[in-house]
Amino acid sequence: MSLFDWFANRRKSGPISEDRQEREIADGLWTKCEHCDVLTYTKDLRANQSVCGECGHHHRIFSDERIRQLIDPGTWHPLDSQVSPKDPLNFKDRKAYADRLRDTQTKTKLSDAVQTGLGNLDGLPVALGVMDFRFMGGSMGSVVGEKLTRMIEQATATQRPVIIVCASGGARMQEGLLSLMQMAKISGALQQHQTARLLYLPVLTHPTTGGVTASFAMLGDIIIAEPKATIGFAGRRVVEQTLREKLPETFQTAEYLQEHGFVDLILSRTQLKQTLAQLIRLHPPLPPEADRLDGLTLNWPELQHHRVSSHSNGD
Ligand SMILES: [Zn+2]
Repeated sequence: MSLFDWFANRRKSGPISEDRQEREIADGLWTKCEHCDVLTYTKDLRANQSVCGECGHHHRIFSDERIRQLIDPGTWHPLDSQVSPKDPLNFKDRKAYADRLRDTQTKTKLSDAVQTGLGNLDGLPVALGVMDFRFMGGSMGSVVGEKLTRMIEQATATQRPVIIVCASGGARMQEGLLSLMQMAKISGALQQHQTARLLYLPVLTHPTTGGVTASFAMLGDIIIAEPKATIGFAGRRVVEQTLREKLPETFQTAEYLQEHGFVDLILSRTQLKQTLAQLIRLHPPLPPEADRLDGLTLNWPELQHHRVSSHSNGD
């Protein structure tokens, strides 16, 4: 082959290799970063907790992956995984709610938008709830409320800290009032958990909005968020129209909320597990005799268990 032919062949093979690249992206071998367009070998991306090594973009991950990242292998015990939603209002929009539920369950292999369970995080027993945005936008219906409430109650009974990884578009309108009352129900369970002086750490991921923000996402002792996550109650446009002013570009980002005191800590996902473990080690449950000492002038338990954040729920 002459040198000329060699170059001609290479030019011809250019588009073919691009085709192959497209195919390999489709096969899931490579993942293209939505933020910086850099291609990463999917295995490497997963090993880096699905955070782009180039620009730090946090790719969206779902509940199974999150549990794998946070819980020590072989220690996860799911709770109430069979609890499944009903359609008490016989709700129908473009599609019947009952059909939508069935289709989503088949597609995601989840019963509803949250997985809850008990497990060890870096050797520490915790109760963990992880919302899943794939399931109807992580919307909070009666099953999400019930599963989180039962998990928090178990955590209170067994003196475990609670971690909830939030990702939600808000309340599930297809369940009307039944979805809205979950906000109060979960908050009530958290109040009991706090009265037992146990630690609650919500982790706000992209996006955390609506009724979830208006209840348990904001009731943490230390509120953690992932970088650049959208966190808000009403949508940006609604707020702009109501206030009749233009809002800054960064409005409703984790960084904006931290600046304004709603978020305590923004953590890269690659540091999440070790930081959660550190925070839990700093806040061990009070020994039973500590309550008796409370009434005395010795207030060391108060000092020991001083809550870091001012967002504590209740008193
Ligand atoms: Zn990137």
